[in-house]
Amino acid sequence: MKDFLKELIEIPGVSGYEAEIAGYIANEFRQHCDEVVTDPFYNVYGIKRGAGDKSNPKVMLAAHMDEIALMVKDIDKSGFLRFTNIGGVDQRILLAQEVIVHGRDKLTGIVAVMPPHLLSPEDASRAIEMKDMYIDLGLPCERVKELVQVGDLITFKSPLVSMLGSFVNGKSIDDRAGVVILNEVMKELDKLVYQAEVCCVATVQEEVGTRGAIISTYRAEPDIGIAIDVTHGDTPDASKDDTYAMDKGIVVCKGPNMHPGLTERFLEIAREYRMDCQVAVSPRPTGTDARSMQISRAGVPTILVEIPLRYMHTTVETLNLDHIKSAARLIALFIASLKEGWQEWLRY
Ligand SMILES: [Zn+2]
Repeated sequence: MKDFLKELIEIPGVSGYEAEIAGYIANEFRQHCDEVVTDPFYNVYGIKRGAGDKSNPKVMLAAHMDEIALMVKDIDKSGFLRFTNIGGVDQRILLAQEVIVHGRDKLTGIVAVMPPHLLSPEDASRAIEMKDMYIDLGLPCERVKELVQVGDLITFKSPLVSMLGSFVNGKSIDDRAGVVILNEVMKELDKLVYQAEVCCVATVQEEVGTRGAIISTYRAEPDIGIAIDVTHGDTPDASKDDTYAMDKGIVVCKGPNMHPGLTERFLEIAREYRMDCQVAVSPRPTGTDARSMQISRAGVPTILVEIPLRYMHTTVETLNLDHIKSAARLIALFIASLKEGWQEWLRY
């Protein structure tokens, strides 16, 4: 599980450019399901057929594979790269980051930073904007222009680091951890008897507006949707209202974006198996794939499962691996509980 996460994090999968990571995920999924399909946008669907017939529901799980990153906007006459962002990159964490520029080769660069000695006291105390930053590849201009073009992608170099206990950190754990959960759900289902047809979708383009979830929900035509993503873990400086404990179980979200009956049933299964769950509320549509799954086609009753993650959209996103295991187990138990008459839970 940890090795799969480690490998996933090192493969580039920038929103809108997911081909490479999709291939890798498809290979892994193939070992645990009946059929793997990839669409032209590189959503990856791992299908597992349960023991049931057509009266049993089709359940779609979604976790996004794409990551936030940067893109080359201009190459200046000294060979420094100007860049823009794809997805919600935090400008404050960019300075002095090591990056990979995906030109004709994979080129290591750094987001350059002016030494404090050369700054005025006012400049030293203010945050620098992305438009004033540049990337240094350590190469002469002519060579840079041979290797890099405007529009090339730039990803962060920040491999998975094991911390003490069961915590890990690194880039794009949002939401590669969710993709690992999809894979673990498939393995858990192999230990259970279940009737439903399960379609585990590693989605694309979530970070630019949950667009892969729209496409894949249309294709999968599910009766029930389960979105898996990360939410904010607790830190000393953040409000308790908006954050969740890193060691008190996965987070189940309530609000108009989620189906009340199915959400209640999911929490009931957690109680039955004595598994800890934290409850979050979202009064508006969430920023996750659940947003699009719920209103695709004629609408899909959807559940949202989230994992607490500290330092979201940075290169040190921190997560408790125990939550990957418990999320997968609970989702699999919920799926196995879907038997004839499951529609009753849609009434609330
Ligand atoms: Zn996410």
